[in-house]
Amino acid sequence: MFKTTVAGSLPKPAWLAEPEKLWASWRMEGEDLVRAKKDAVLTWLKVQETAGIDIVSNGEQFRVHFVHGFLEQIDGIDWEKKTKMGIRDDRYVVDVPTVTGPISRPRPVHSDEVSFTRANTTQELKFTLPGPMTICDTIADEHYGRRADMAMAFAAILNDEAKELAALGVDVIQFDEPAFNVFMEDVKEWGIDALHRAIEGLPCKTAVHICYGYGIEENLRWKETLGSEWRQYEEIFPALNQSRIQQISLECAGSKVPMSLMALLKDKEVMVGAIDVATNVVETPEQVAATLREAMNHVDAERIFPCTNCGMAPLPRAVAEGKLASLGAGVEIMRKELS
Ligand code: ZN
Repeated sequence: MFKTTVAGSLPKPAWLAEPEKLWASWRMEGEDLVRAKKDAVLTWLKVQETAGIDIVSNGEQFRVHFVHGFLEQIDGIDWEKKTKMGIRDDRYVVDVPTVTGPISRPRPVHSDEVSFTRANTTQELKFTLPGPMTICDTIADEHYGRRADMAMAFAAILNDEAKELAALGVDVIQFDEPAFNVFMEDVKEWGIDALHRAIEGLPCKTAVHICYGYGIEENLRWKETLGSEWRQYEEIFPALNQSRIQQISLECAGSKVPMSLMALLKDKEVMVGAIDVATNVVETPEQVAATLREAMNHVDAERIFPCTNCGMAPLPRAVAEGKLASLGAGVEIMRKELS
């Protein structure tokens, strides 16, 4: 009971990239860089296993950013042609690359890193891919015309990629859709359809991660505008409960999300965020246990998968290590309590 997992990203060690930064550039290149990324994966596998994490991730050590790590290998995108775009409904204005023609995936994107990760742990393995809606909110479109159409095109190539990764031994493929908490109407109109296209025929478990983002300044400012209760999930959970996605990852710890909203996911496995990624304060195992106890008021224990609220990429490494240890220890408290 309480199979423990992580949302996805973990900090890059200081010898691999500048710490505590999103979009940090690599410290080396070529073969040295590939070797260093592998070393970082080995480090995080060990940390997760020691902490008692049941379903581990490679910490996204191979990619600079959770969306662009996939897009960099996709044809049809002009990386020189930058378009200024207010992404996540104008929460951040950034220069994004532009889709200028039909997109295609000329070769596998993540196979090598997945083969390496799979060979180095016997734990269940999760792999994260950006979701179609979030991709479309992170890249400009000069070809498809409608966001829903571009999302379907990305969903098709994500599906090809996901099938290959599942064949390499990935147990859980998770699509990251922070945009689902911003464009709630689009989720119901085409977002879930795009996810269904992305998971078509997958033999492994499928998940979607929906959060309020990394603990960076732009997100903290946005959260200030959301009022005393964050009820975005309420608009999309009923539709997600009817979807074919098996696991839903949501944020709880230290956030203003009413825990009762997870009761809307009565047919799903629920990844309960019991670790706040927007603070460097490491929660105690007892605090983790308290979050899980409260989740049990709304979700049967056998459907609860304790998790982090979001990725931990921008956190100091020691903080992320401490939070993983507390997650594992908090789950242990609960297992003892319930046995
Ligand atoms: Zn997240």
